[in-house]
Amino acid sequence: MGLLDIVPAGVVTGDNVKKLFDYAQEQGFAIPAINCTSTSTINAALEAAKKNQSPIIIQFSNGGAAYVAGKAIDNKNQEASILGAVSGAQYVRSIAKAYGVPVLVHSDHCAKKLLPWFDGMLAADEAYFKAHGEPLFSSHMLDLSEEPVEENIETCLKYLKRMAPMKCLLEMEIGITGGEEDGVDNSDVDNASLYTQPEDIWEIYRRFSEVTPLFSIAAAFGNVHGVYAPGNVKLHPELLGKHQAYVKEQLKGDSDKPVYFVFHGGSGSTEQEIKTALDFGVVKMNVDTDTQWAYWKGLRDFYEKNKDYLQAQVGNPEGPNKPNKKYYDPRVFIRAAEVSMVDRIIEAFDALNNKNVL
Ligand SMILES: [Zn+2]
Repeated sequence: MGLLDIVPAGVVTGDNVKKLFDYAQEQGFAIPAINCTSTSTINAALEAAKKNQSPIIIQFSNGGAAYVAGKAIDNKNQEASILGAVSGAQYVRSIAKAYGVPVLVHSDHCAKKLLPWFDGMLAADEAYFKAHGEPLFSSHMLDLSEEPVEENIETCLKYLKRMAPMKCLLEMEIGITGGEEDGVDNSDVDNASLYTQPEDIWEIYRRFSEVTPLFSIAAAFGNVHGVYAPGNVKLHPELLGKHQAYVKEQLKGDSDKPVYFVFHGGSGSTEQEIKTALDFGVVKMNVDTDTQWAYWKGLRDFYEKNKDYLQAQVGNPEGPNKPNKKYYDPRVFIRAAEVSMVDRIIEAFDALNNKNVL
C-alpha cells in the first residue's frame, strides 16, 4: 500500500494531513517544505515531487509571500503578504492535482509583530472553508519563540481554537532557532532557549491536544537558519527522542512518536543528524537557503556556458547577424534555474528518505 491509497493527489488538508504525517512517521521519512516566491519556484518544487513520486510542502514566508504579490504593492498592514500568500495558495490549488502528488500549502514563521498577516490568511481560510468545507491552506506556522513561554502557548492556543473547526494544522515554535553571524561559537551553549526541554514539549502537547490533534512542534535542538561554517553550532537531534519518550510516559500511551516534530535550519546538517531526526518523529524539514543557491547556480552556469550568445540581441560567434532570442527568452534562462532547483530538491528528498512513497 502506498501513500496515494491513504490520501489523494493535490492539496490535502485536515485529517489527510494527519494521515500523511502518521504514514511518514511509520515509514521513517519526512516531507521537505520548500520556500517559494513565485510560480517558477512553486513549479520547480512540484516538478521535483512528481519526478521523485513524493509528497511535498509548498510554503510562503512573510517576505516571500509579499514577493509573490509583487514589489509594487505596499506592505503596510501586511497587505502584500496576505495577498501574496493567498494567491500563491490558490495557484498551488489550481495546478497541484495535475502533478499527481499530495501537496501541503503552508505559511512559514509568523512572529508577534506579523500577526495581522496571520489574521489575513485565516480570514481567507474561513472564506474558503465556507465555500468548500476545508481551509485554503493545509497549515500555518506561528513563531512566538521570542516571547515568554506562557505567552507563546496562550497565543497559539487562541489561534488553535480558531483553526480547529476548519481542521487547519498549526505549527508552533518553542526555543529559538539560532542565526548567529559566522564565527560566533555556540558549540558550548546548552541553555533552555537553544535546546527545548521535555517539560515544555509536554506542556504544549497536553494543552494543545485538548483542542485538536492537528499541531506540530518546531523544537530547538541547536538549529540555525542559513549556512554557516561547520562546527559553530552543535545539533542535538537525539533530544527529540527524549521529548517523545517523556510525552509517551506522561500519556502512558503505546505510540513511540506521539509528537509531530518539524526541523528548521536544516541547511548544512549531516546525513546522520537528519537520520536521527527522522528516527525521532520529524515529519517536516524546511529547505530554503540551499534551494536559493541552486536556483542562482542554475542561472549562473547557464550564463557562463552561453555568455557569447547573451551580449546582444543579434550577433554571436556564429555570425554578426545570428539572432540570440533562444538564449535570452526567460523560458530558457529561468528554466535553467528551475532545473537546478529541481535537482537540489531531489537531493533533499533523498536525505529525508522520501522517495517513491506514492
Ligand atoms: Zn525556520
